Amino acid sequence: MTTSPLLSGLSEELPELRALYEDLHTHPELSFQEERTAAVVAGRLREQGGWEVTEGVGGTGVVGVLANGDGPVVLLRADMDALPVREETGLAYASETDGVMHACGHDMHVAWLLGATGRLAAVRDGWRGTVVAVFQPGEEVGGAPKMLADGFAERFPRPDVCLGQHVAAAPAGLVGTRAGALMAGADSMRVTLFGRGGHGSTPEATVDPVVLAAAVVMRLQTVVSREVAAGQQAVVTVGSIHGGTKENIIPDTVELKINIRTATEAVRERVLAAVERIVRAESAASAAPKEPEFEPIDSFPVTHNDPAATASVQAALAAEFPGLTFELTSPVPNSEDFGAFGTALGVPSVYWFVGGADHKLYEGVDLEALVRDGIPPQIPSNHSPHFAPAPDPTLETGVRALLAAAGHWLAP
Ligand SMILES: [Zn+2]
Ligand SMILES: [Zn+2]
Repeated sequence: MTTSPLLSGLSEELPELRALYEDLHTHPELSFQEERTAAVVAGRLREQGGWEVTEGVGGTGVVGVLANGDGPVVLLRADMDALPVREETGLAYASETDGVMHACGHDMHVAWLLGATGRLAAVRDGWRGTVVAVFQPGEEVGGAPKMLADGFAERFPRPDVCLGQHVAAAPAGLVGTRAGALMAGADSMRVTLFGRGGHGSTPEATVDPVVLAAAVVMRLQTVVSREVAAGQQAVVTVGSIHGGTKENIIPDTVELKINIRTATEAVRERVLAAVERIVRAESAASAAPKEPEFEPIDSFPVTHNDPAATASVQAALAAEFPGLTFELTSPVPNSEDFGAFGTALGVPSVYWFVGGADHKLYEGVDLEALVRDGIPPQIPSNHSPHFAPAPDPTLETGVRALLAAAGHWLAP
C-alpha cells in the first residue's frame, strides 16, 4: 500500500468518482463527437481548482495545465470516445444512446485521470513540477495527431515524459506493461491501380486492372512469409477490393484498401516499402498506362515504451501494487495513437494496462497462461458488447497507478 501523500484522501473521493464513471458510461459519444464528455471534463477541472483549462483542442480535446513550482513536466493522457457498439451488459448504468457504447473503457480512462487531477489539485505540497492533463478525442482514429496539429507543442508546456494507461480484460487489480514495443503500429492505405478499359471480348486492346489487382493481392502474401523474419510480427491484409461494373467490360481502375500491422519501426519500414515496391512492379509488369496511386487512410506508429522511463514506472507500480504487476512477454497486436505525443514532442513515453475484469470471470484461469497467451476467449474484452470493467477496484487502481507512475517525476 502506498505512502504517497498524493493518495491520502483518495478513498473518500471514490463514491463521487464512481458516480462520474457511471454517468460517462451512460452517455457515450462517438469519436470526435465527445461534446458532452469534454464539457464534463472541463467543468470538473475548473471545480478542482488551479487547472488552466483549454477546450476545443483538435476538435473536442481538453487540456488542463497545473503548474506547481519548479520541476519536471509530466503529460498524463486519457481518451474520451466510445464505439458504434450496441451495449448488451445489462448494467443499471448502461448506455442510453442506442448503438453507441463505451466498449473500449475510455469512460474509465476519463474517470481515472479526473481522479488523479483531483488529488494533484488538492495536495499541492505532495508534489512539485507541472502536470499537463490531456483528454483526447478519437483514440483509435487519430485524435492525438489532431490535437498535435492544433498547435499542441506551442500552446502547452513541453513534457519530460508522457504517461498513459488502458483498461484491459485482465483480472481487476493487475497492472502490467513492457519496455520497448508494446502495441503494434498500424498503417492503412487506399491503392488505385490503373489499367486501360475496353470490351471484355478484346483483352488484347486493354490493360486489365482486375488481373493486375489479383496479382498484387497474391504477391502481397509473400511480404510477411518471405521478407519478415520468423521471430518478428507483421500482418498485411487487403480488406477491400473494388473494380468494374459488368462482366463484359474491362474497367479502367481497381481500388484496394490495405491494412498493415507491425511491431517494430524497422519491420514497419520494410513492410511498407515492400508493399509499395510490389504494387509498382506489378503495375509495370501489366504495362499499366499510369503509375499506381497511394493514399494514406491512417497511420499509428508502434507504441514504444522508453526503456529507462518504463523501468522507473515499473518500479513505482511494483511498490504501489506488490505482487499485482505483470510483464508482457511480447507486444499486443492492438494499435493506439498515444505514441503520437511522445514521437511528435520528442520525449519518452510509457503506456501500461490496468486489469478491469471481475475476478468471478477468471475462476480456474491460470494467470501465467494469461500473460503468455492473452485474454481467454470466454472473457468479454474491449470492443465486446458485454465489456464491463468492475468499477471496484478498477477505478481506484487506475488513479493510484497514474499517481504512482507520475510520482517518480513529481516527487517533492
Ligand atoms: Zn478500442
Ligand atoms: Zn481504447
